[in-house]
Formats: sequence, C-alpha cells, structure tokens
Amino acid sequence: MTDTTASADTLLEWYDRHRRSLPWRAPPGKRTDPYRVWLSEIMLQQTTVQAVKGYFERFLLRFPDVETLAAAPVEAVMQAWAGLGYYSRARNLHACAQVVTSQHGGHFPADETALLALPGIGAYTAGAVGAIAFDLPAVAVDGNVERVLSRLVALEEPLPRAKSTIRKIALSLLPPKRSGDFAQALMDLGATICTPRKPACALCPWSPPCRSRREGTAETFPRKEAKKQGALRRGAAFVVLRGDDHVLLRDRPPRGLLGGMAEPPGTEWSAGFDPDAATAAAPLDASWRRLGGNVRHVFTHFPLELTVYRAEVPAGTPAPAGSRWQARALLGQEALPTVMRKVLAHADIEGI
Ligand code: SF4
Repeated sequence: MTDTTASADTLLEWYDRHRRSLPWRAPPGKRTDPYRVWLSEIMLQQTTVQAVKGYFERFLLRFPDVETLAAAPVEAVMQAWAGLGYYSRARNLHACAQVVTSQHGGHFPADETALLALPGIGAYTAGAVGAIAFDLPAVAVDGNVERVLSRLVALEEPLPRAKSTIRKIALSLLPPKRSGDFAQALMDLGATICTPRKPACALCPWSPPCRSRREGTAETFPRKEAKKQGALRRGAAFVVLRGDDHVLLRDRPPRGLLGGMAEPPGTEWSAGFDPDAATAAAPLDASWRRLGGNVRHVFTHFPLELTVYRAEVPAGTPAPAGSRWQARALLGQEALPTVMRKVLAHADIEGI
C-alpha cells in the first residue's frame, strides 16, 4: 500500500488492534452466528450500541436461536422488544424467524439476494449478515460508512443521490478475504474515529490517503441535497397610502416567522388562497386596485407569492385596530423584512 491509496489491508491492520468488543461479535478469527448478527443489526437500527447491549443479551437468553424465536407467540417477542421502539421491526423480526425456520430449515441463507427477500431485511442488513456471518463479498453501507467513504474521496455528489456511488467505492475497496471484518472495521472507524464532528484524523489508518483530511474539509462531508421546498403558499398584501404621505403598517406577532417585524396588513398565507376573494380581508374600506404581477419570495421552508392591492385614503383617516400609520419618509427606520420591502416597492412606495 502506498500512502496515497486507501486499502482494505491498512484498515484491517487497524481493526485487528482496535476492534470494539461487542456482545454479538465473535472472537478474532471466528465467524459470528448469523442469528446473532441479524438480531444485533436489526436492534442497532433503533438505537445506540450502548443501549442495545443489555437488550441483546436479555433477548438471547429468552430466544437463544431462530427456531425458539419463531415458535414464540408474537406477544412475547413484542414484550422483550418493549423499550426499543419501532414495533413494526419486532413484528418483522418474528416473521423473519418464521420464514427462516419454515423455508430455510432454520438456517439463514448464505446468499445476499435470498437474505434480501426475508421480512424486514434491507440492503444494509443483507450486506452485514452476508459479510459478517458468511464472508460473502458484500458491503454494509449505513450512514456511518457513507460519512467515512465520502470523506475519504471528498465526494461532492450529495446524499441521497450519492448512495450508489458510495456503494461502488465500498465494493472497490472490498478485500478478497475477510469481507466480514472489513464491514465491521468500517463500522468501527465511523463510530470511533471518523465521527460526525471533530473526526480524530490523526489516529485514522486512512489519514494519508484521505482527501478531505488533506484539504481540511472533512467535517463538511457527506454533502447533502438541499431540503425540498414546501408547497407554494399565496396571500395578499394591502398597501394604503394616506393623503398626508403616511403608509399603513402593523407589527407581526412576536413569535413565529418574521416575529415582531413590521408589514403592510395582509391575509393569511396558504396553498389554497384565492386572490379574487382577498379584498374581503382588506384592513379598511377603500377603492382597492389590484396591481399587476406578484411579489415572490422564498423562505427556508416554502416559497411565497403575494398579490398586492393598493389604495389611497384621505389625510386624517384613523388607523384600524392593530395597525398604525408611518410617514413614508420614515419607512427606512422600520423593521421591514425583505419580502415586505418588495411589496412596498411593487406598490411604488419609495423611501425604504
Ligand atoms: S482521515 Fe479523518 S476524515 Fe478521513 S477517513 Fe480518517 S477520520 Fe475520516
């Protein structure tokens, strides 16, 4: 291995010295019973290693093998699972034990595709059981492994799109022997060294070849796709100009979006908003003019489209309850959010 190439050998050497001792792991050089691998992997989907240890040991005392588990009433399984949450997984666990018993003679199949066909077993668990229990050439890629491998190559492709690329990287590193140890070594590296925050790169066996470590960007990986925007919301804003050059404003409630900021009065914002019925919510009686075009603004969670109405009222018109007049010349001093500045500009109100 050269310093610039990540290899399974380097990782396995590190694993041989630093492997975690876990109740479901076989001693070095021995293969783990598939039942124990499967059970621990399903349990670990719910919670941390620390929390699972006790459950695992108690569960094994009660259901020492797959046939015992299959023969138990589902209520007993649910009871032993109580506290781990996600009860559909306990039901699947029981169903899987029954299929293994009735269709596979009580033995987990030594084949990734057949494992995948069992109730409650997805790609990760099939890879983990296949590699750890049977030394099949399989990889088990979960969030920890995605983090390690995306950092190793400084992968710019964001998750979840990057999943298949990361799987290919894992397969390209897979050693011809010891695939189970390789899977567990990656798990251990992700859990103990290449942690989400402050990875201990100085202790990492892949430190020399790790590209993000070299570039000082490790913590920024894995890249993630921007969250999907929520549905478009619509509403209306009412801009009122009084004869003495004042504009009607109100203050938003102190909590929530744009809390405490100023705005021209407006309607609620909703997906089903009907702009034709908007003037029913206008703050005062006036001759309202609906302006052409809309004001668009994108908040973190949703885009907004506002229809703007404008009216002029005589000097001396009192402010309706909950609103106030502000001199147009002093609008610059108001805490007006960007979206409301856009609204006033759309209504040809300068001075902001
Ligand atoms: S060098 Fe650092 S960032 Fe790279 S794999 Fe190791 S711990 Fe993770």
